[in-house]
Amino acid sequence: MTQPPNNSDEWYKDGLSFECSLCGNCCTGAPGFVWFNEQEADEMATILNIDAPTFLEKYAHKKFGRWTLNEVKNEKRQYDCVFLIDLPGGQRGCKLYKSRPTQCRTWPFWPENLKSSRTWKNAAKTCPGMRRVDANFYPVEDIRIILNQNEF
Ligand code: SF4
Repeated sequence: MTQPPNNSDEWYKDGLSFECSLCGNCCTGAPGFVWFNEQEADEMATILNIDAPTFLEKYAHKKFGRWTLNEVKNEKRQYDCVFLIDLPGGQRGCKLYKSRPTQCRTWPFWPENLKSSRTWKNAAKTCPGMRRVDANFYPVEDIRIILNQNEF
């Protein structure tokens, strides 16, 4: 797990803005991992109206001893999260949005993105939600709370 920055490293002390634009970029691309715990597996299974063992068998696999969601190779040879869906108007979203794992809920306030303004800007290149002028504002207190939710 990447360590959250110390308070003295909080270059974002004046807060940051973010609001998802439903482009789906963070749910596709190079192969990656969406880690989740047992409770999150139960919640995702409930949304799908199946039991947790069935959920794990159909939609997940173990890597490095932990559960991660499956991916599906698309026509652009990228890897979509198994729950990425097309929405009206060309947008893309999550089939399990209300029960998505913490890793997804806490994007883009991940330790690796918050290391510096440079890493934040770098992540923003592929996430238009981090560049929106009308985005929700997150004060530093909220960012700290989100950072502490990360287990991955
Ligand atoms: S990349 Fe950013 S704007 Fe696009 S779906 Fe993910 S969070 Fe939303």
